Amino acid sequence: MTQPERQAWDVVVVGAGGAGLRAAIEAREQGARTAVICKSLFGKAHTVMAEGGIAASMGNVNEGDNWQVHFRDTMRGGKFLNDWRMAELHAREAPDRVWELETWGALFDRTADGRISQRNFGGHEYPRLAHVGDRTGLELIRTLQQKIVSLQQEDFREFGDHEARLKVFQECTITRVLKDESRGEDGGAVSGVFAYERESGRFFVIESPAVVLATGGIGKSFKVTSNSWEYTGDGHALALLAGARLTNMEFVQFHPTGMVWPPSVKGILVTESVRGDGGVLRNSDGKRFMFDYVPDVFKDKYAKTEEEGDRWYEDADNNRRPPELLPRDEVARAINAEVKAGRGSPHGGVFLDVSTRMPAETIRRRLPSMHHQFKELADVDITAEPMEVGPTCHYVMGGVWVEPDTAQARGVTGLYAAGEVAGGMHGSNRLGGNSLSDLLVFGRRAGLHAAQYALGLGGGRPAVDPGTVDAAADEALRPFSAGAGAGEQTAGDSGENPYTLHQELQTTMNDLVGIIRRGGEMTEALQQLARLRARARRAGVEGHRQFNPGWHLALDLRNMLLVSECVARAALEREESRGGHTREDHPEMDRQWRRVNLLCRLADGGDDTPFGKEPAGDAAAGPGRGRIELVRHTTPHIRRDLLALFEKDELAKYLPDEELFQ
Ligand code: FAD
Repeated sequence: MTQPERQAWDVVVVGAGGAGLRAAIEAREQGARTAVICKSLFGKAHTVMAEGGIAASMGNVNEGDNWQVHFRDTMRGGKFLNDWRMAELHAREAPDRVWELETWGALFDRTADGRISQRNFGGHEYPRLAHVGDRTGLELIRTLQQKIVSLQQEDFREFGDHEARLKVFQECTITRVLKDESRGEDGGAVSGVFAYERESGRFFVIESPAVVLATGGIGKSFKVTSNSWEYTGDGHALALLAGARLTNMEFVQFHPTGMVWPPSVKGILVTESVRGDGGVLRNSDGKRFMFDYVPDVFKDKYAKTEEEGDRWYEDADNNRRPPELLPRDEVARAINAEVKAGRGSPHGGVFLDVSTRMPAETIRRRLPSMHHQFKELADVDITAEPMEVGPTCHYVMGGVWVEPDTAQARGVTGLYAAGEVAGGMHGSNRLGGNSLSDLLVFGRRAGLHAAQYALGLGGGRPAVDPGTVDAAADEALRPFSAGAGAGEQTAGDSGENPYTLHQELQTTMNDLVGIIRRGGEMTEALQQLARLRARARRAGVEGHRQFNPGWHLALDLRNMLLVSECVARAALEREESRGGHTREDHPEMDRQWRRVNLLCRLADGGDDTPFGKEPAGDAAAGPGRGRIELVRHTTPHIRRDLLALFEKDELAKYLPDEELFQ
């Protein structure tokens, strides 16, 4: 096969959301020639959709805030399954990352005395989210893009070429991380990436010893989601295929408030800022039901009466917060229970009301996007009537198992991951606002360490093997020959439609591995995934490589099937309920499980392109085998000085005895 065009860069960043752009800026500032590649148009990443804000303990609105309080809140939110070192770095460094954005031109909302304003969010003890109305992500991306342009202008002055040291390849999709098997430990070192241009279908290779994955989440594997078309778990799958392990994959966050009506917009996010700014949840009886759902571990931190909850908005120091501001997993489960008990709204959600809490003008000023979204999409005026909301798949806590300080994928030389594609930081449940801060903190760290590694190699870099490039091209082209030539079909069979397979996969995950899980249903999900995997081998497309959405869907299937299997397999294994993982058949949180991380890795033969080698015979239909295998890893003890930030009584709720006594 003719070899595709090649370029050489020091660092390749896959993804141009917040994590990718922050990594690219850092790598370039370290002197590394850096390429950024993104699947959609530059500036259209998920980060742009972020509404509520960036969590950072700047203490602008309440001086009691500091990194230790933020660390505590993050660990509580994640039910102590967080990688504590990541949670520590995140809490310590988030304020600097926000200040830095301001020096790069970000215009945050201000307090009356001119400081960066901070708003309340679920699970955060103090007002902590730096924000720009409800369009914070847009400002974040705008600022990072502006910084990139300024670096490119510097390069133009020095080299006469804007793209001499920082180049963006937009509308290009990476399908493989390439490795040099003769280098590094554990099966080789990263040597580059294989990509196709979405518009032309042209293949190309970027040779690079350091690859930063910043590809975001996996929400498109679920039917009802706040995520956009891009979030097919590509980075998670690329990492697995490159030999990395994924951690915490059973923990998927269902945001409590997505739109439920009309059907065409079901799942679109209703920002938590609505509750942070005073919005209340009511059932069809008009009752503020969240007071009935405060779990024991949080009982002393939340208001017992509506009056106390309401007073908290005016006087947070002398009152406890309303239970509408519990962490997301708690609120999502409560809404689910109310609907199931027959106390839901007409379209299967509950009511979220700000109209009785704030003047119309304030709502329009503080929540402009929400006002617009409901008016345009549902013909609801949120300044005058309540919204109908229900849970929607929003975020994956699981991701690439990384070294906390360097963001390097453990065991894979040259591979780094940051942002939503990385796992560990949020444990079993992420607090709102902690993603934007996470991607800034660890995006910077990933860019820094990727650049240092690449520049430290000098001339002796891992090489791209033409054989692996041919294999990647074969894999990418397979859907064009998956029709009659595939040898697996009967005459006249035109193959499987990739779009239908997407839909069936999304329904399977939504219905069988969704917000409330049961062992039997997850076993069934694994069987269905095995059948979908077999059918996906026959997913054929017609036409040519120039902008062919059917082809792109067929290629996404590999990634969606891999991450879905990780979620289902880990969720079946974890026999307890914690954070974003709720088992109806194991409803309690079990302290012994705090010491267990479930790591997913590709099983032997699992990388037999493009959809993996199935076990012999009909075993493919069974849940016991598949492409993913689980490894149990014992979580390290939390450092003493960090443990000392908590009361012993609280720790006793989370830590097993041996850890407590230690
Ligand atoms: P993304 O911003 O998701 O970017 C991923 C990038 O990877 C994109 O450029 C994409 O094109 C690229 N990519 C993916 N696959 C490939 C591939 N194969 N090849 C090439 N490129 C690829 N979090 C908060 O902290 N605060 C909030 O207020 C908040 N609000 C939110 C509101 C909404 C509606 C949503 C959906 C999420 C919100 N979140 C919020 C979560 C947060 O926005 C995301 O977790 C975060 O933006 C993820 O950033 P990222 O940089 O990791 O990835």
